[in-house]
Parts: sequence; C-alpha cells; structure tokens
Amino acid sequence: MKYPFLILVYSIVCQGRGINLPTIPEIQHPPVPEDAQIGFTAEDAEKLLADPEIDPEVRPGLFQGDMAINDETYGDWRVGLRWDVFPDKLWKNRTVPYVISPLYETEHYITIYKAITTINHMTCIKFRPWDGKAKDYLLIWPIKYPRGCWSYVGKNGGAQIVSLQPPDDTGPNCLGGEGRPIHELMHALGVFHEQSRADRDKFIKVHLENVIPEFKSNFDKQSLANTTYQFEYDFDSIMHYGKNFFSIGKGKPTITAKYPAERLGQRKMMSKTDCLKLNDLYGCLGKAPRYNRRYYTICNIMGL
Ligand SMILES: [Zn+2]
Repeated sequence: MKYPFLILVYSIVCQGRGINLPTIPEIQHPPVPEDAQIGFTAEDAEKLLADPEIDPEVRPGLFQGDMAINDETYGDWRVGLRWDVFPDKLWKNRTVPYVISPLYETEHYITIYKAITTINHMTCIKFRPWDGKAKDYLLIWPIKYPRGCWSYVGKNGGAQIVSLQPPDDTGPNCLGGEGRPIHELMHALGVFHEQSRADRDKFIKVHLENVIPEFKSNFDKQSLANTTYQFEYDFDSIMHYGKNFFSIGKGKPTITAKYPAERLGQRKMMSKTDCLKLNDLYGCLGKAPRYNRRYYTICNIMGL
C-alpha cells in the first residue's frame, strides 16, 4: 500500500507548487432552475434548514438539495445526463482534471483523495491532478455559502466547484468518509438522484405529507421516456435519498421502501449498480468482451 501514499504526497507537492489557482469567493451563487425555485430567498432556506442534525446534502437549498443546474439542463434532465443532448457536459477522453483545495486539513484531503482513487479504480474514468492548463477542471473546495455538500451536474466548463464542507463542531458534514465525496463527484460526472427515476413509485413510497412544504418539488420524478439507464432500481445506490431527507421532523420519514431495503440513503460506497451505471455512462461497458468483463468484475467485487 506504499504506492498510493507516494501518489498522494506527489499530488500534494505538485498542487502546492507552480500552479496558480483562481481566487475562490467564499460566497457562491450556484444556479437553481426557474421552475424549481422555492419562492423565497436563500437566506430563508438557510434558516429552514438550520438544524445541525439536518443532512449536509439537504442544507445547500439547491435543486433537490445539492445539485447546481441551470434552466437549460433542467429542461431536459434525466437520471443521468444524455450526452446526445448535452455533449458539452461530458468530460472529454473520460478525463477529469481536479484540484483539492489547500484549505483542507491533511486528513480531510486524504478522505477526498480516497474518493477520487476509488472512482479511478472502479471505472474507466480518470481523475488527474490539474496541470494548470486544461480549461475545464474541478475545484474541490470548502465553500462557505451555500454550506454543505453540493455539485454541478456534468461538466460545466471552466473552473467548476464541488463543495465539500469539512467537519466542525456540528459533526462530520461531508467528510466523515469517502461516501459523500463520491456522491458529489458522481453528480459532477453527470449522474442524478436514484429516487427521481420514472419508475420509482413501484419501489418506494414518497410521503409528501412529511416533507417540509417548500421542498416538495425535490421529490419530483422524470417521465418514463427520459429514463436513461438499463439498470434495475437500486435501493443501495449512493445516489439515493435517505429516509429522512427534507423531513418535517423526527419519526416522519419522507421515503420508505416497498421492499426490504436496509441501505436506503447509504453514503459508504458506490453500490454494484452505481459502479455499472458510471461505467455505462462513460462507455466503459459494451466494448470488447474482455474489457467489458473487467468492469463487471470490478463492480461486483468492490461495489456495495
Ligand atoms: Zn445529490
């Protein structure tokens, strides 16, 4: 296990030297689609979601909690972005240049780095330290506002924020493990939330009466015609909402499973299906049989 550690040291050293990072304002204004705006100010949303026990993916108050998307994307959104509709949102050559903010403490840097290497191992997607030149890249940054964990969906162009709030007095926030970083990085790769699938009502019950009223639209689903994935509904998905997301209070679940599903809302690791989904979205499956088998095998072994 020496090798990954050396890569980590190398990447910290390289990222700290010779590359001019842009200045990142502490306050960001990520887009919220017009149709999905909740009719009150971001400050109001912050107050409504102020409970420290609230999930850090819910806290940013963006579309479905943690997704920064614009009107154009929203008008034609799916479980995963369709590249024929949004070719510019696909990371070219399956390569994602990234920078991890030097503002993170080392242990939190390592958590983020582990999430990145996990995706690199499990898929044909290649996260690479930014060379200071590539036009499009991810800036993984502890943005102060909106707080919590959030990401754009697909490649946005230019320096693109993935916001991961580090632990503080209230709890681990987005960096208690590699799961939440993986979730937000999967958004950045073009994946939406599992429970917004067209066929979700066969598998889960959404209790809208238990949802904070202003956030009901976060539980909308897309039409059947828009479903991109061939994979079965995945209760184990790292992209599935938890039982109490946007709940009005304790003991008032917003989602329950219609089948036994222990892991609803897990943020530990990509499920087997998440892994296949990503590989499918980036064209890693359906190639030469040997290549194909490789990712099926990896997903089955490493996926939750
Ligand atoms: Zn999310």
